[in-house]
Amino acid sequence: MTNLLPVLVHIPAHSQVAGPLTYRSESALAPGTLVRVPLGRRELLGVVWDARIDTATTALDPGKLRPIAATLDTIAALTPAWRQLITFTANYYQRSLGEVALAALPPQLRDLSAVQLARRLKRQANPSRTSPLPADEQAHGPQHEVDINAMNSVALSAEQMAVMARFEQEPGPFLLFGATGSGKTEIYLQCVQRLLASHSSAQAMVLVPEINLTPQLEARFRLRFDALYGAHAVVSLHSGMTPAQRLQSWLAAHSGTARIVLGTRMAIFASLPDLKLIVVDEEHDPSYKSAEGARYSARDLAVYRGRLEGAKVLLGSATPSLESWHHSRPVSAGGRYLRLAMPSRIGAAASVSASQTGLGKPEAGLPIVRRVDMNHQPKHCIISPPLLEAIMQRIAQGEQSLLFLNRRGYAPVLHCADCDWKSECPHCSAYRVFHKIDRTLRCHHCGFAEHVPRACPACGNPDIAPLGRGTERLEEHLAELLRDVRRPNSTSQPGLAGKPVRIARIDADSTRLKGALQAQLAQVHAGEVDVLVGTQMIAKGHDFRRITLVAAIQADSALFSSDFRAPERLFGLLMQAAGRAGRDAAISGGSEMWLQTFHPQHALFEALKHHDYPGFAAQQLKERQQAGMPPFSFQALLRAEARSQAVAQGFLTAASAAAAQLPESQQVTCYPAVPLNIARVANVERAQMLIESPSRGALQRFLSAWQAVLHDTRQQAAGRGLIRWAVEVDPLTI
Ligand code: ADP
Ligand code: ZN
Ligand code: ZN
Repeated sequence: MTNLLPVLVHIPAHSQVAGPLTYRSESALAPGTLVRVPLGRRELLGVVWDARIDTATTALDPGKLRPIAATLDTIAALTPAWRQLITFTANYYQRSLGEVALAALPPQLRDLSAVQLARRLKRQANPSRTSPLPADEQAHGPQHEVDINAMNSVALSAEQMAVMARFEQEPGPFLLFGATGSGKTEIYLQCVQRLLASHSSAQAMVLVPEINLTPQLEARFRLRFDALYGAHAVVSLHSGMTPAQRLQSWLAAHSGTARIVLGTRMAIFASLPDLKLIVVDEEHDPSYKSAEGARYSARDLAVYRGRLEGAKVLLGSATPSLESWHHSRPVSAGGRYLRLAMPSRIGAAASVSASQTGLGKPEAGLPIVRRVDMNHQPKHCIISPPLLEAIMQRIAQGEQSLLFLNRRGYAPVLHCADCDWKSECPHCSAYRVFHKIDRTLRCHHCGFAEHVPRACPACGNPDIAPLGRGTERLEEHLAELLRDVRRPNSTSQPGLAGKPVRIARIDADSTRLKGALQAQLAQVHAGEVDVLVGTQMIAKGHDFRRITLVAAIQADSALFSSDFRAPERLFGLLMQAAGRAGRDAAISGGSEMWLQTFHPQHALFEALKHHDYPGFAAQQLKERQQAGMPPFSFQALLRAEARSQAVAQGFLTAASAAAAQLPESQQVTCYPAVPLNIARVANVERAQMLIESPSRGALQRFLSAWQAVLHDTRQQAAGRGLIRWAVEVDPLTI
């Protein structure tokens, strides 16, 4: 008998075909089954879906429908929960089901035929060929117990024990509000361990914001769990892996062989048949929000998925997002997450756990925050005299310092003082950055690069000069300042005594080559570096043991931004950076965080000085409530790209006018169309329109109803010349 199957395939976004296509099949295949189907002259990967067959389609004569080409039945069908996650994501973020479903599967799955796939699976089912497990690690009873005991020898701090007790008793979701170095990772390990021990097939997912942080995390998880569950139980999933590795990890998770999946935001879509726990580390980090395609938030989807699958969800941060912080207010005030606090660093002398807002008491082991008023420092100085003095002091003590500046390259602009020429990018509304190392001007937006001209291209003046500074210039400047300083005598590294100071720089430029970052970090850990210079890349997550001084060279950068989330991000970044100082309790006593600022009295720096995230959050939330901003309202953006601003904005304006006709637009405000901050990138003009509502439901209903209108507007005169449009839900930058 012939069956009609709804099948999702990847069709380009906005092709107006939102749902599944219909194919013939001799056998009735269960929803979630992976298949290969013909489309035009190509053959594509597809997922059998459970939508009802639309009678309008079937009326087209079943005889004309094409049969599926192959069934990938060596892979178990995707579960109803996974399919529901996809359906929710597609609906919520206003994308097509096919796009979301296929993007959620490992890319290599699309390229392999059924035969190739079967071969791959056979190889994987016989893991001894890739990495043999020592026989005695293969789950011997007694061996097992010994390992568990060894593992439990970590004596939890009082704060950690209190957190674990709540985690055991309550359903969550949890917001673990723990100072940097308070032992959050240890909590994640313990939570994973307990849940895995409670069910023989249970699985856990641990998300981190950056690929760079996965090796460090994977090492810690392997140390703990390889002995318990074997070397195949922990897998990673992120975009830095080869397609083959990604497929292997995905299959291991899908088949249940992998018990722990560590990954970046994309891992939230991994198929785990028995998911019991999702941990989201550094939950405030903007990288959990995808910047393309469905632009989903992996953190928000984690909470949804946890509820859907009955898995516990644990969000962790020292500086939670204001959304999560707000959700974790007391239940009596409407809170939905349970807040768990760990204010003290591991090894900090006194216990301050009694105070829920006690972060930052010196007893909590956090660094002292010092503000340098740049108004009272020599003009144009980059590193102020007192900061330089402090860095030299650290060097003399054999300790490390970390200086960060959120701009890579040598100088952000090259400038001619005669005619005022600046190194603009010809393709973008932005300046090209001067990179001294290879004497190029590079656009950080479109990648356009050229050799630095010998003279001003406009007037011929040979004397063009860099304006402002980036990490490269900071490194050079520092080397000059420390030229005559020598390393002290040190018992741990006697060979280095009397040698010049070593400065290293870590940023996107210095780490372009594969393995470069790991090598550079290893040097820092080994104490071969005295001063580390870098971008925010080094301010996050890394467990540096010997750094006792951290300095933000230009702390003011985001103070007066028009983006209402800028203070939240700046505070988070500075707190994270401070968290890199004094992580070794033995030397943390004198650790310091320095801020160079022209606004030392600013409330943000006051709060930072006291490590007072709750105070900062309360003030920010109050402002947002008064202004009707998230989390007290809900937002979406409609973006448009065209060769001219007029076309891009024209489309938005037409879409907005058409929206007013919709009954669903009642509780929704569409603001006027505006150019993006950097309006032109690679010769494409970009504009956007903010859509806001006090109700998430109302916004969702509006956006769904608006889809058809947008497709329609695209076909009208207002859509002529438009390159693309897209809706973003819950945008982080406006
Ligand atoms: P966080 O993730 O909160 O920044 P970590 O989990 O990395 O903190 O912990 C900081 C350091 O303290 C790590 O080196 C970790 O091994 C150590 N640590 C964590 N918990 C304990 C504990 N209970 N006893 C001793 N050391 C601990
Ligand atoms: Zn000139
Ligand atoms: Zn450019």
